[in-house]
Amino acid sequence: LVSVRRVSKQFANGTLAVRDVDLDLGAGEFISLLGPSGCGKSTLLRMIAGLANPSTGTIEWNGAASDGASGGRPDLGFVFQDPTLMPWANALSNVMLPLTLKHVPKREAAERAAEMLALVGLKGFEKSYPRELSGGMKMRVSIARALVMRPKILLMDEPFAALDEITRHRLNDDLLQLWWKERFTAVFVTHSVFESVYLSQRIVVMAARPGRVMADFAVDAPYPRDDLFRTSADYAS
Ligand code: ATP
Ligand code: MG
Repeated sequence: LVSVRRVSKQFANGTLAVRDVDLDLGAGEFISLLGPSGCGKSTLLRMIAGLANPSTGTIEWNGAASDGASGGRPDLGFVFQDPTLMPWANALSNVMLPLTLKHVPKREAAERAAEMLALVGLKGFEKSYPRELSGGMKMRVSIARALVMRPKILLMDEPFAALDEITRHRLNDDLLQLWWKERFTAVFVTHSVFESVYLSQRIVVMAARPGRVMADFAVDAPYPRDDLFRTSADYAS
């Protein structure tokens, strides 16, 4: 689906954030991206999303060169670490935003947005304003907004980092179900090794200095992976 070829990114101040990254994202894959703070994960994600241009190298979509930083792609959804919802608009309007920007008729947009909210478990919260929602609920709204265009790929930059463990675990399960149902390519940035093993089919590890890929391996275990959260005592008969 997406091919990252020898991509590097050097910022104007000289910082080399990403160096010589080669990465292929297959259709329908669930990939986690791990690595220490500052190793270039967000920078790489932003380049894949077309929100920034590589300094060198290319990013191809289905074999065609990406048109670069054109302000984002419709076939791609991005979930940022801090949910950036419009505070003056209710959950439904927030999810409708990408559709209204594309001039989808209001009625259809509202229908599709309501459907998406239901899919992320927020049926009944359409009229709630961001200030009336918890952090986890706001995250669900952001995911619904990122998915409302039915993108082929969903990029998530530490989406659950600010949440408590229980909410996080719930969201992990709901995200997996959503992925199972919708079959988008998921790229999930996290600092949690457990979370990455629980969620993904493949784990890519980046190293700081010089922002390159250090390991790229398959997680060969069937879903669901609840065993990860049990101890041997749980299996004693
Ligand atoms: P974290 O896990 O903390 O989110 P990260 O892996 O996402 O880290 P990036 O945000 O991609 O890291 O940053 C990679 C490097 O690029 C860092 O050294 C950072 O300081 C630098 N950097 C990021 N954005 C810019 C920018 N706009 N201008 C200059 N340097 C930048
Ligand atoms: Mg980051």
